[in-house]
Amino acid sequence: GLGLNKSIISLNQTTDSEESADNANPADTSLLMKIIRQGLVESKLDIEIQRKDPNSPLYSVKTFEALHLKPNLLKGVYAMGFNAPSKIQETALPTLLADPPQNMIAQSQSGTGKTAAFVLAMLSRVDPTKNYPQVLCLSPTYELAIQTGEVAAKMAKFCPEIKLKYAVRGEEVPRGTKITDHILIGTPGKMMDWGVRFGMFDMNKIKVFVLDEADVMIDRQGHQDQCIRIHKCLPTTCQMMFFSATYDTAVMEFAEIIVPNPIIIRLLREEESLDNIKQYYVKCKSPEEKYTAICNIYGVITIGQAIIFCHTRKTASWLSEKMSSDGHSVAVLSGELTVEQRIAVLDRFRAGLEKVLITTNVLSRGIDVEQVTLVVNFDMPMDLDRKADCETYLHRIGRTGRFGKAGIAINLIDSSLAMQICSDIEAHFGKKIQLLDIEDAEEIE
Ligand code: ADP
Repeated sequence: GLGLNKSIISLNQTTDSEESADNANPADTSLLMKIIRQGLVESKLDIEIQRKDPNSPLYSVKTFEALHLKPNLLKGVYAMGFNAPSKIQETALPTLLADPPQNMIAQSQSGTGKTAAFVLAMLSRVDPTKNYPQVLCLSPTYELAIQTGEVAAKMAKFCPEIKLKYAVRGEEVPRGTKITDHILIGTPGKMMDWGVRFGMFDMNKIKVFVLDEADVMIDRQGHQDQCIRIHKCLPTTCQMMFFSATYDTAVMEFAEIIVPNPIIIRLLREEESLDNIKQYYVKCKSPEEKYTAICNIYGVITIGQAIIFCHTRKTASWLSEKMSSDGHSVAVLSGELTVEQRIAVLDRFRAGLEKVLITTNVLSRGIDVEQVTLVVNFDMPMDLDRKADCETYLHRIGRTGRFGKAGIAINLIDSSLAMQICSDIEAHFGKKIQLLDIEDAEEIE
């Protein structure tokens, strides 16, 4: 059934040693973003449409009524508090609901309304008078499948005749049974078992196939092959929907296999930029000197809130202990916390209960805290080859138009490698990173 317990959702524990870089895996990041995101990410930017079928002019809708949904489904949408379609929904929904059905590849950053769009399409394609699976939705992990199922259950609140079932670990169907639920949401392995290996439902009767989080899917060993094997058993008339937060070659090659003749829509992303940011570096000889630098900075400028990035959990906890014992209120966000713990940390920080957030690489993107005025790189961001990681630098320091307030970034440099990374980043963005003499720090404000 759909009543799975939320408390089972916890992040895969990283087995990395304390010393290694604390990097998040994409499935965890995606799940966390889903959980902490409260409401839509609105974008001022436009949708880009590729391969528009000239025979079916794409139109967009400004209201949910214009989609002519079943009344009880519309009621469910409104009960979720959705008043108007999001940007991606405006364009995707008419196409997803069109007759004859059209295939779609849609890409937009997380939080823009993709899940709600395809869940609505899945629900409206079901014929509840026929008691067999008609819609398959594949997610890369157990937790992400549950998230999608919960959205479906909410949206179908007034459509009790529509039955959903999870195809995930722990859900068992006795051999020889036929599945009678209309919608199956699950992971590729279980879906393969039920549909392909054990014939518990007729793959030929599937009308809608959704592949969600495709970029996370291809990141997982074996998932891509399983998706392709499931896909091969579907009838050619099946409507294919493919969703991804990113749009790189690997994802698009995968998409080409799964989705013939698609309409491709992309919601362009508001780019982060370094335009409003004053960037500095401070020379230090040791971690202790880096700590002193932070204290000195605190002494001279009034800081709203600050985020300090460290490379390892060990540094993060060392620094937090030191700062706490000096009377600062600090929070720590690192890889060993469960999703619930991370949300709690971020909620407290957003509410201003702590002024300083010390974090490893677990969430360089997505901490949109408006009142953060200072970002400190306690360690410079580098990739596995110990080269400057410019993308991560931009995610840590950069702001989008929405959070366009001025900010200060300070890089603490304690080695020639760190200095090299700093100069490479400066060259990459073509923006000066000034030397800051901490004894004489009045100049930063
Ligand atoms: P994505 O799948 O792109 O990550 P979601 O569909 O999960 O995005 O939507 C992100 C958040 O916005 C969710 O909290 C969802 O409930 C909410 N949301 C989605 N569509 C709308 C809408 N039309 N109006 C208001 N909120 C919406």
